[in-house]
Amino acid sequence: MRKTKIICTLGPATQEPDVLRQLIQKGADVFRLNMSHADHGSVREIVPRIRALAEEARRSVGVLLDTQGPAIRTGDLETDLQLKQDDILELTVAGAQSEEPYSVNVNYDGLVDDVSVGDNILVDNGMIRLAVLEKRGGRIRTRVITPGRLGSRRHINLPGVHVNLPPLTEKDLADISLGAELGADFVALSFVRQKSDLDELRGVLVDNRSNALIIAKIEDQLAVRAIGDMIEGADVIMIARGDLGIECPMEELPIIQRRIVKSCLRLGKPVIVATQMLESMITNPLPTRAEITDVANAVFEQADAIMLSGETSLGRYPVECVRVLNRVAVRIERSGGAGYAESAILGDNRQKTVASAVLLANSLANSKIIVFTRRGAMAHNVSKLRPENTPIFAFTSSEEVYRQLSIYWGVYPVKIDFTDDPNATIEAAERFLRRTKLTAPGDQLVIIGDVRAGEERIDSVQLRTAK
Ligand code: PGA
Ligand code: MN
Repeated sequence: MRKTKIICTLGPATQEPDVLRQLIQKGADVFRLNMSHADHGSVREIVPRIRALAEEARRSVGVLLDTQGPAIRTGDLETDLQLKQDDILELTVAGAQSEEPYSVNVNYDGLVDDVSVGDNILVDNGMIRLAVLEKRGGRIRTRVITPGRLGSRRHINLPGVHVNLPPLTEKDLADISLGAELGADFVALSFVRQKSDLDELRGVLVDNRSNALIIAKIEDQLAVRAIGDMIEGADVIMIARGDLGIECPMEELPIIQRRIVKSCLRLGKPVIVATQMLESMITNPLPTRAEITDVANAVFEQADAIMLSGETSLGRYPVECVRVLNRVAVRIERSGGAGYAESAILGDNRQKTVASAVLLANSLANSKIIVFTRRGAMAHNVSKLRPENTPIFAFTSSEEVYRQLSIYWGVYPVKIDFTDDPNATIEAAERFLRRTKLTAPGDQLVIIGDVRAGEERIDSVQLRTAK
């Protein structure tokens, strides 16, 4: 049973029920809707489709709505621009008109103030590099340094510049309210810069009556510097290596990744490693050896989840990509992890109770952890400690929690009705595990739940032998 979760970004390559079904079968745990590209019509169609297929497969599958955030983007182009070295490209803002053969408008009026003559502007994941020659009104005249093909709505990076856009744009607010309406399980905030950005999103979710978990995408130097605040303010952290690799010196990226994963494991916050994990598989049926090793590294570090972007949204081999992640993850997990969770901080008494249960499970052969969780907290508490040799079967009565548990390391979520009698609930769970062959007779079941003591319910750890 794989412990590292797999997130797949959906797109043109993965709209059809048949492909989605295969992705779930091969092990996709969470589907990501990238609102920088997806339109509301297709989102309305795809979310119920995901729900139906998850139900059919009896699997917990989460839906992640990823906002565009305060990203600078080029506008729509009628045809792509084939930019050659030393071509002149004009970037226009606020409706300014260009007379150059090559021009594109940009969604951020402040760009003119933020860049100076001589600065470099990076477009489309840093693939195209422009040098600023001159600024005139709403026009920025640039010379192409690194040539390339410029398509519509490409992202612009200004490393080190604090972009003066609000944390949530009008578009983000509309997208989040759609996500809330459709019951998205996670909402990711792009280019989060400070803790108050996350608080603002939390307020918007409350207003929209959404309990979605908040994912902070760490994409630039400001967020890296404020990582402590980010971990505190978010429910989940995403190491968004795509933008991070442009916004920071590239050689810092592995160091930043390791530092963030370590901090998240110490503080018990779920963490996702994202972007370019199998980039070459957008066009090739096999990954490069370097990609396999990168995936293995994230699994070894015991990140909660690894993510596919273009590989599954527009690539030629989306299902094959999930198969590769699954194979590599299962194998690397078997060889043991980095053990960063050994320095996990045990907060409250509930966390300490769970720690004793994990210690017990680790000391037994053929142990299985079973946890009953109303709001997901106890399952999360177990996952935080990264028990390597035992699965974590998390039983919950809440549909919402069932789906949110899809992202936590090692957790196998099961939906069950809780009865008034905790013992009857435990027995129902045991029957389920026996019937589905998830446990075998003789397995040592470490059960974390609660027992009645008069009127009170108290946390309990029990050891039972599976029948
Ligand atoms: P994006 O975020 O795919 O929305 O840009 C992830 C990243 O930057 O790595
Ligand atoms: Mn990004």
